[in-house]
Amino acid sequence: MKRHVTIIGGGLAGCEAAWQLAKMNIEVTLYEMRPKKQTPAHRTSFLAELVCSNSLRSDRLENAVGLLKEEMRSLDSLVMKSADLNRVPAGGALAVDRIGFSSYITKSIETHRNIQVIREHVDHIPEGPVIIATGPLSSGSISKAISELIKEDYLYFYDAAAPIVDFVSLDMNKIFKASRYGRGEDYLNCPMSEREYKNFWYELINAETVELKTFEDQKVFEGCIPIEVMAKRGIDTLRYGPLKPVGLEDPRTGEEPYAVVQLRQDDRQATMYNLVGFQTNLKFGEQKRVFSMIPGLEGSEFIRYGVMHRNTFINSPKLLNQYYQLEKDPRIFFAGQITGVEGYVESASSGIVAGINMGMYLKDQSPIDFTPMTVIGALAHYISDNSIKNFQPMNANFGIIVPLGRSIKNRQQRNMQLGERSLSLIDNIKSQLEVLYSIEF
Ligand SMILES: Cc1cc2nc3c(=O)[nH]c(=O)nc-3n(C[C@H](O)[C@H](O)[C@H](O)COP(=O)(O)OP(=O)(O)OC[C@H]3O[C@@H](n4cnc5c(N)ncnc54)[C@H](O)[C@@H]3O)c2cc1C
Repeated sequence: MKRHVTIIGGGLAGCEAAWQLAKMNIEVTLYEMRPKKQTPAHRTSFLAELVCSNSLRSDRLENAVGLLKEEMRSLDSLVMKSADLNRVPAGGALAVDRIGFSSYITKSIETHRNIQVIREHVDHIPEGPVIIATGPLSSGSISKAISELIKEDYLYFYDAAAPIVDFVSLDMNKIFKASRYGRGEDYLNCPMSEREYKNFWYELINAETVELKTFEDQKVFEGCIPIEVMAKRGIDTLRYGPLKPVGLEDPRTGEEPYAVVQLRQDDRQATMYNLVGFQTNLKFGEQKRVFSMIPGLEGSEFIRYGVMHRNTFINSPKLLNQYYQLEKDPRIFFAGQITGVEGYVESASSGIVAGINMGMYLKDQSPIDFTPMTVIGALAHYISDNSIKNFQPMNANFGIIVPLGRSIKNRQQRNMQLGERSLSLIDNIKSQLEVLYSIEF
């Protein structure tokens, strides 16, 4: 007889958890409220929709998020399989055609014999084994039910999305194709002279935002800070951040421009491009006015404007263990950004850990600890570390991984060795899992 798990939320984490459980021959009912009820950031009815950038960030093994992706590939991640199949050019990053990416995942989940997808909004915590993966924009009634369950206030921060422009509206006479340091031609680059940059900066810092308040008293995730907030830190801040010209030589002048805005391909057909690092809370009219000052974007058509939203997450260090399981009610697991992991890849990775360990729980097996020597395990240990007092969302990074027992000065070499250690641990876990998959109830 198969056992059954309810998953609430068909985002990146919910889909990964469903996939892992289905492989263990466990029946899953996955509830997704879209398209009947949308969040303020989602636009489609696809499962695992990417709400902002189409980039899953670095794909290099010496980078922590690159290593995390490799760990996930090794664990048969559905998100990584779809990302690899739907890749679009983006230098050393893994960017995807967002529709191709989400539709592949939707089809894989909807056609799996062990998964039933129900397009309904859930407003209570169901009986029996449950994984809550309702994301940073969880609907009001489920948020209330979760708050009653955990008897804690939510934590929150603000997260913003960047605009997307139509390729045919760009002035390619002003834009050049290049990846940084001559590594290909994957990005469109809009070069700015000193005067153009200073005019742009001045208009940006004085432009109107959606709510006429500053973000000083609000919590903005440092890795996703709105461009106008970053600009207000100083006239050169953007030139050392998203508009840095380093490694980008303009073929028309043979020189590095004063500043560069980069555009990244957003779909397989290369009809849409997003403005890298331009997550914003400016009013739509202001986005059109100010961003059209960027050379090459004067006549640009905005397919989507940037938006900013309040993200909520639970105080996981007080509530969860390293398996994403609720300490006080072990039939309940959480997964995704609601646990305080931050980012698409991190959210999906937590779905893998929660899904596998829900399976272990149902099969009366000891849980699988991915250990802080892997990135996937280090994130799980970080969010459940009850010594953390001021809990904040966490991206994949080498700072949370247990260091090697020896000192290696060269950072790249050190990271590569951390990667080798991690992937060999994941291989061991995989062999353990293969034996466990065959265990029937
Ligand atoms: C505005 C914004 C911009 C962002 N930009 C980026 C970015 O550029 N890069 C990045 O890496 N990360 C970004 N993030 C973070 C990103 O959303 C998450 O990393 C990721 O989508 C989280 O995955 P998840 O599965 O936890 O949640 P989601 O992908 O949001 O999935 C949750 C799902 O649950 C469904 N749901 C919610 N409540 C209910 C309910 N009661 N009943 C049924 N279904 C429900 C939702 O419809 C949704 O499909 C951004 C987030 C926001 C809000």
